[in-house]
Amino acid sequence: MLDRLKLGVKNIIDKVKNSIFIDRKLIEEIVKELQRSLLQADVDVELVLKLTEEIKKEVITKKTNVEKKELLIKLVHDKLIEILGSKEYNLKLEKKKNQTIMLVGLYGSGKTTSSAKIALYYKKRGFKTCMVGLDIHRPAAIEQLKQLAEKIDVPVFYEKGKDAVKIWKSIRQKIKLYDIVIIDTAGRHSLDESLVNEIKQLHKEVHPTHTLLVIPADIGKTAKTQAKKFAEVGIDGVIITRMDGSAKGGGAITSCKEANAKVMFIGTGEKLNDIETFSPTRFVSRVLGFGDLTSLIEKINLALESKDKKRLEKIKQNGFTLEDFYEQIKSMQKMGPLSKIAELIPGLGNFKIPKGMFKVQEEKLKKWKYAIDSMTPKERANPEKIDSSRIQRIAKGAHITTTEIRELLKQYKLIKQMLGKGMDEKKISRLAGRFGLKVS
Ligand code: GDP
Ligand code: MG
Repeated sequence: MLDRLKLGVKNIIDKVKNSIFIDRKLIEEIVKELQRSLLQADVDVELVLKLTEEIKKEVITKKTNVEKKELLIKLVHDKLIEILGSKEYNLKLEKKKNQTIMLVGLYGSGKTTSSAKIALYYKKRGFKTCMVGLDIHRPAAIEQLKQLAEKIDVPVFYEKGKDAVKIWKSIRQKIKLYDIVIIDTAGRHSLDESLVNEIKQLHKEVHPTHTLLVIPADIGKTAKTQAKKFAEVGIDGVIITRMDGSAKGGGAITSCKEANAKVMFIGTGEKLNDIETFSPTRFVSRVLGFGDLTSLIEKINLALESKDKKRLEKIKQNGFTLEDFYEQIKSMQKMGPLSKIAELIPGLGNFKIPKGMFKVQEEKLKKWKYAIDSMTPKERANPEKIDSSRIQRIAKGAHITTTEIRELLKQYKLIKQMLGKGMDEKKISRLAGRFGLKVS
């Protein structure tokens, strides 16, 4: 996400860290580089100049040298948060029936995909969710929504017709028992009166609990125009999609802030899991390469469903078995691709890990799963007793090499030692290392 901005900021931080002396020339250089990175991310020019001037002024007027290094990094951190908006917003939803979230926006902004992402997001958090398809202009729209709904196993309601208000009136009766109803609406190629009017009408009839504007990151600072125009309809906030694929996400975020629109969610990939609430502090930490432990821990917690929590208890009492290791691999896979997980781990963000390395590791995890599948329950419970002949049998059964099985057993042993005394942040990131996310 935001690779260019990250790289630029990383260069700055490195420069500061590696310098012995922070003089005016270095400060100028760093400020220039920061400006360049932010402008590339499509952040508004005036805002960039204001921010960087402030940084310059504050560092220059500070007295000691030692402090200046830290001050400079802290200022970059603080000012970035300031332009993104230091507040974090969340949709206020309760454990009660019949709350509605309506998504609006132009064609291709990501409404339909985000509808399913949000449905899944709240489903995972224990809400009974469903979706309603009100994109009446494009015949393929309902089909797309149906397919997504099937993937996440959430019901979807729709009807044929040319009048979204009429369709809504008829569907409204059927969805009373759901906690959260997500409504996907029609878009247009451009922001015109007909779209605004259609949404206004629908908005009046649905009277949604929340209305979210969906904006793709690639429109950069023009997000401001859209946010302002859609404010007429009465939006609560914004979802910025495709943060993974665009360098302009920074501009989209800052310009929403300028339009007083609250960024509630960001879309970070095409998969339906790829959505998160937007936290400026977290975001900046990630850009600065400090990693994002909060997101990681949230993901780990979600992956650890109650069944897994029981397992953790069991591990605490009886120790770590291969069975647990197997469940752990499954949980890791549930959390998403390793490359995404690595991005959230402190420190790892500072390194460029080749994409191929993740693929290799994911393959390895798969093979380990096959290997454990081919073991007898006794072997799983006492992996220490697996000898060469057993290794050969397992290798045959799982169609993998004995070397790979030996490696699995070695990793298991290492994790077992590591888990000896409970989990803390350090251990989590070392655990990531054990899954092959090693950096040198
Ligand atoms: P709509 O016309 O507003 O309903 O937009 P869609 O939901 O159909 O999305 C348009 C395209 O953007 C699709 O190809 C989606 O897969 C893609 N898309 C949506 N959100 C994201 C995201 O966060 N990341 C990426 N990479 N693609 C996305
Ligand atoms: Mg759509």
